[in-house]
Amino acid sequence: MQKNQEYILDIVDVTAEGSGIGKVDGMAVFVPLTAVGDRAKVKILKVKKNYAYGKLLSLVKPSKTRIDNSCPSFNQCGGCVYRHISYEAEKLIKENKVYENIKRIGGVDILPQPIIVAKPERYRNKAQYPLSQDYSAGFYAFHSHRIIPCEDCLLQPEIFSKITEFVTDWAKEYDISIYDEATHKGFLRHIYIRRAEKTNEIMVCLVVNGEILPESDQLVDRLLSLCGNSLKSLVININRKDTNVILGDKCKTVYGNNYITDILCGIKVRLSPLSFYQVNRNMAEKLYEKAREYANPKGKNIIDLYCGAGTIGLSMARDANSIIGVEIIPEAIEDAKYNTKINGIENARFICADATDAAKQLASEGVTCDVVIVDPPRKGCSMEVINTIAEGFKPKDVVYVSCDSATLARDIKLFSENGYELKEYTPCDLFPRTSHVETVCLLSRK
Ligand code: SAH
Repeated sequence: MQKNQEYILDIVDVTAEGSGIGKVDGMAVFVPLTAVGDRAKVKILKVKKNYAYGKLLSLVKPSKTRIDNSCPSFNQCGGCVYRHISYEAEKLIKENKVYENIKRIGGVDILPQPIIVAKPERYRNKAQYPLSQDYSAGFYAFHSHRIIPCEDCLLQPEIFSKITEFVTDWAKEYDISIYDEATHKGFLRHIYIRRAEKTNEIMVCLVVNGEILPESDQLVDRLLSLCGNSLKSLVININRKDTNVILGDKCKTVYGNNYITDILCGIKVRLSPLSFYQVNRNMAEKLYEKAREYANPKGKNIIDLYCGAGTIGLSMARDANSIIGVEIIPEAIEDAKYNTKINGIENARFICADATDAAKQLASEGVTCDVVIVDPPRKGCSMEVINTIAEGFKPKDVVYVSCDSATLARDIKLFSENGYELKEYTPCDLFPRTSHVETVCLLSRK
């Protein structure tokens, strides 16, 4: 196979990132924007030792799973990879991806519980829009800082598009300059919006290269005319650094509070610009409900590792005997403590530490528990955490919430070598149209 050659390929599989896979003489060719079932004319772009990349030229015969893509920015911004196939087909791909990883990497052949599915459009409650010098808001291209204009992202609530329009109109009218990454000059860097869906409270945060927001009264008036009393907070986040990290660490309130409040699984959750919160609230609720079913919290002592703002543990606190949450980011622990207080919960405590260190420390103090919940970042748990859970806490059950089924599968194997077996698992589609899928698992002591 050589660069620039053209082939007619049958697309037979899909990568974890959502590219279709065809074969030439047994060698895999990855072709973005194709779907399983397509017969496609493909041009080879790059040939590696064991695989190649190709570009879709035309469809000879389209897959039955195809639908009309409804977004003009599809495949340009770094967001969706599955807008060209039905949600039904996407669901099966995701379910299968989790199953294959757990079988191949985890060494356990158990079928998943049916994937918990979502509303595939407008499910996000948070957006951060970079701005281009012509005052259009958009998103960065995949693996890049090139801005792809996007007037209305179909994963975001409609009100977010209106807010960005109002903000950019205001900025244009009052000559508020747009930040330029290349020169490190200009004022307005990002428009960051959050919505608490249950309470319908909205926060608008402008990330700025400065300390004071000029013409702020005008902006507040305009946003109030758009959002009414849903607008609970207008803040600036000060980011004066020459960095591609979006948020700085200081915020100033311009209007209302410096937070909004959502309700998740019956728990009030305070959201400040810097606090972590699941971007798909409705699905987070379903994910936590599944975690609750697996943890069966009544009367139990529960340790919640990688707890963020404590939401999983707190959602079980009213039934559990005790909750200990561990999280490495100080602000998240502050939020967790605050959330504990505003919900009148008295049997939960939170520790700000690395999960491995805290687990070892607690185990050395003789702390044991009935259930450990882990919800680590993509890289998964450390081997030491798994050892400490198995040998120190000795819980009957471990509930593992994962955003990466490959590292989850690796950890399932490690747990099984430490005396825990996978009982059941459920994929949960928190991020429809993207390549991501969450999974919640129950592991029990053998
Ligand atoms: N359970 C929470 C957050 C999950 S995200 C929720 O559902 O909202 C994973 C969390 O792990 C993040 O908050 C991250 O800050 C935290 N984290 C990452 N590395 C960690 C470590 N080594 N020790 C403890 N927490 C860590």
